[in-house]
Amino acid sequence: MIDYIHSIEKKILGGGGISFTEAKKLLNTPPIHLVYLIAIAHNVRHHFFGDNVGLCTIINAKSGRCSEDCIFCAQSAHYHGECEIYPLVEVEHIIRAALDAASKGIQRFSIVTSGRGLGKKDFKKVLESIKAIIQKTCLQVDCSLGILSSEQAAALKDAGVERYHHNLETAPSFFDKICTTHSITEKIKTLNLIKDAGLSVCSGGILGLGESPEQWLEMIFVLRDLGVDCIPVNILNPRPGTPLANRKPPMPLEIIKILAIMRLIVPQTEIRLAGGREVNLRDFQALAYWAGVTGMIVGGYLTTGGRALKQDLQMLKDLGLRWMTTTQKQHKK
Ligand code: SF4
Repeated sequence: MIDYIHSIEKKILGGGGISFTEAKKLLNTPPIHLVYLIAIAHNVRHHFFGDNVGLCTIINAKSGRCSEDCIFCAQSAHYHGECEIYPLVEVEHIIRAALDAASKGIQRFSIVTSGRGLGKKDFKKVLESIKAIIQKTCLQVDCSLGILSSEQAAALKDAGVERYHHNLETAPSFFDKICTTHSITEKIKTLNLIKDAGLSVCSGGILGLGESPEQWLEMIFVLRDLGVDCIPVNILNPRPGTPLANRKPPMPLEIIKILAIMRLIVPQTEIRLAGGREVNLRDFQALAYWAGVTGMIVGGYLTTGGRALKQDLQMLKDLGLRWMTTTQKQHKK
């Protein structure tokens, strides 16, 4: 297995890619050899990204009462998940959150809303917020507003949005087990619209929904073929009141193995840790960076809290990693 792992490294550093069959074979890496897999993922990350990592923070700008039935989500109106319920917050509220992110030096700020998509009035309000944030700060502004039309994608681009986030959540072969109110085809259509509008594309999923490791890899290959720029990896943090409330999430070393294989499938794509990282990786969060991760969401998630920013930044410093910041120009006058 060690020779096989090194042959994969050579191939990737030589500019090649790996096939689904080759990636699947890496899933058989025995625990005793996991360290070799981590080492090559680390080399590949370092080769393409150096010591640079990226941070982003999100605002849950519209929470709960979602018409969709995603089985993991506390915001779905189909279940009895625990979450705050409120309509789209005021523009000033979004701006205040953005200024706070800028003052902490975080590079990306994402406006996230629950639901299938936004109506005209709310969409207009989000555009207004984006323009104000861009005028007042040097944050890179991202959005996650559900399924989009091409007109909406173009309007976001015009307003100055840099990246749009829209998770596939899981593999096409497993999607109908986690959601029936929309299809993965609609999601892929939105990802293509975003790309066509000239926006950077962020799309990933949630590990541990009940998919097999092969199905997780299937999703990564779909994302590779779609040419996404960033893959956020959430790890199931079972929410009370949802159908997955009692599902056991994956163990830390299983997550680390998957992350390392992902790095080899998409050597030049950002991989960011997202919701569930603290509770599921626990003491292995730092190891995730050696397994190829290039960034994370900081400051908490949509319906769950995260750990203190100070702790995350200390971890990156201890790893010798540098994160891009918004300093100098962060408070435009
Ligand atoms: S994941 Fe998004 S679309 Fe699905 S139920 Fe939650 S808020 Fe709605």
